[in-house]
Amino acid sequence: MNADSSNNRTLRRLDDFAEAGLLPPGADAAKLGEVARQFSLALSPELAKRIGGSPCSDPVALQFVPDVRELTVDFRELADPIGDDFHSPLKGIVHRYPDRVLLKPTHSCAVYCRFCFRREKVGPGEETLRDPELDAAIAYIEARPAIWEVILTGGDPLVLPPPRLAAMIRRLAAIPHVEVIRIHSRVPVVTPERITPELLQALRCHKAVWCVVHVNAVAEIGPAAVSSLAAMVDAGIPLLSQSVLLKGVNDSAAALEALFRRLCGLRIKPYYLHHPDLVRGTSHFRVSLEQGQEIMRQLRGDLSGIAQPTYILDIPGGAGKVPCGPAYLRPLADGSWEVEDPSGKTHHYPG
Ligand SMILES: *Cc1c(COP(=O)(O)O)cnc(C)c1O
Ligand code: SF4
Repeated sequence: MNADSSNNRTLRRLDDFAEAGLLPPGADAAKLGEVARQFSLALSPELAKRIGGSPCSDPVALQFVPDVRELTVDFRELADPIGDDFHSPLKGIVHRYPDRVLLKPTHSCAVYCRFCFRREKVGPGEETLRDPELDAAIAYIEARPAIWEVILTGGDPLVLPPPRLAAMIRRLAAIPHVEVIRIHSRVPVVTPERITPELLQALRCHKAVWCVVHVNAVAEIGPAAVSSLAAMVDAGIPLLSQSVLLKGVNDSAAALEALFRRLCGLRIKPYYLHHPDLVRGTSHFRVSLEQGQEIMRQLRGDLSGIAQPTYILDIPGGAGKVPCGPAYLRPLADGSWEVEDPSGKTHHYPG
């Protein structure tokens, strides 16, 4: 393997990570092998280029380089952390809220995040919905007029070949009650070369197509991602972002402020900051709710409102997503309120 080709292919095997100098010296090969056996590996060339510091502390490396700590399972961690299975009436569909469904056309991604909330399903086999399964999923949506929005997720829908994506978008857009098609993807940042004119054409339809880009650290966003994101906005696709709060990656007000300012500068509205889910083998990434609330409190006031995401907890077991603070209002016994301002001072508000 010469240096050129190794710069241009996705790292998928432990040997690839070792050759790229990303595994710590003296790493336990047997344990890392077990990690790789349990959970898929992939790091795109674009993101490998974005790793600047030591793999043990670099915010990009930490998200993708396998770690023996993934074998440590906390008893509170779950195989189905947000209860997808409970709300899945048929293959490829998760229907938890009346007005919107998830449609998961593939379990494949461009990269495999070590903290992935669907890591038990995403990766292994890289399964894609077969034609009859996709037909059944679309028939399910067609038969339910309450479904206003279809959320394409997975896996990563933007790894599908553009013709296949175009056909799917066309069929969804043709359903009269579907007004919004939302795509959740990491592709524009991690494999920006996939955002081709053909792919943008595939997303073009007479319904609103929104895209929520998954990005956790400002260091992930290189020049190629900047161009691809601009091409998407220029193609008329409103962009939102979602990030996961992760220890060592972005668990400080300064790291998140830098990320959210950068995103707004790229015409991307920070949408959700997810509290980390109780995923198997991810306790080394976990931050407490108190820490997350404290970070959000620091951001409020110092950071423009358009750069503020909602801090979100997905309740384990499938009960749904809720904003998780911090709270600024406390009810008083007489029906009035105590309100905290961004500097921490309290005020009284009449009932
Ligand atoms: C997260 C999620 C959604 C989308 O929720 P929003 O709050 O609208 O972003 C929809 N359905 C399911 C099953 C989800 O897990
Ligand atoms: S891109 Fe999303 S679905 Fe894919 S591995 Fe990362 S977190 Fe999981």
